[in-house]
Amino acid sequence: MNLLPLPAFADNYIWMLHDARQAIVVDPGDPAPVQKALHDLGLRLQAILVTHHHNDHVGGVDVLREATGATVYGPAREKVPEPLVRLAAGDKVDVAGLHFTVLDVPGHTAGHIAYYGADMGGTPVLFCGDTLFSGGCGRLFEGTPAQMLDSLDQLAALPGNTRVCCAHEYTLSNLKFARAVEPGNQDLVHYLGWCEAQRAQGLPTLPSNIAQERSINPFLRVREAEVREAAQRFDLQADQHDAVAVLAALRQWKNEFR
Ligand code: ZN
Ligand code: FE
Repeated sequence: MNLLPLPAFADNYIWMLHDARQAIVVDPGDPAPVQKALHDLGLRLQAILVTHHHNDHVGGVDVLREATGATVYGPAREKVPEPLVRLAAGDKVDVAGLHFTVLDVPGHTAGHIAYYGADMGGTPVLFCGDTLFSGGCGRLFEGTPAQMLDSLDQLAALPGNTRVCCAHEYTLSNLKFARAVEPGNQDLVHYLGWCEAQRAQGLPTLPSNIAQERSINPFLRVREAEVREAAQRFDLQADQHDAVAVLAALRQWKNEFR
């Protein structure tokens, strides 16, 4: 299976998996890059997987369904263009010879889901939409810090070699914030250097992987002393021994960070 990030808009990726015949895509906000890839590679689109209802993730669904007859899968509890196979935690998606398990990961939106494929030729894959980014997490538009912490803890518990396919190229700005939180994290310094080199060549920093994120992403590290202490310096009211309060403080700090 080939895994491709198709760039869309300013900083979105529409992820495509294909076997040179059949393809699936995740979160097609724009139909054009998908139609070009299908045409250039001679692929038939079998399915569209949607993680959440924001327009930069669903804007191309109707056009692609109409053009290809692909089946659309999406979150049970969100408004996504119908007809749709509605999914919630624990549901299975079997399509184009691929098998995914659905995870509920609320926080960015109330009904956000993620797709985890354990059986991908040895290296699992995660499509996590706008929940987990490399070095960061999504803004809390509809959910609470407690929900986001649960969601991120669930993702952090996946196997370390899981490829993390995020829906945005936000890595460099996330890592600049992460460095302010954890200036003593050497893994972060090395990873930032690698990501800067990738971007300087116009290449994606993604997919990341879960082991990498556990070592550099402050939102997965809210129980680490350096992260807890930094969060408490930002918000003196936050109890640094309460992981939810640490996550809430980090998210607020990131919102204000330039
Ligand atoms: Zn979003
Ligand atoms: Fe988005």
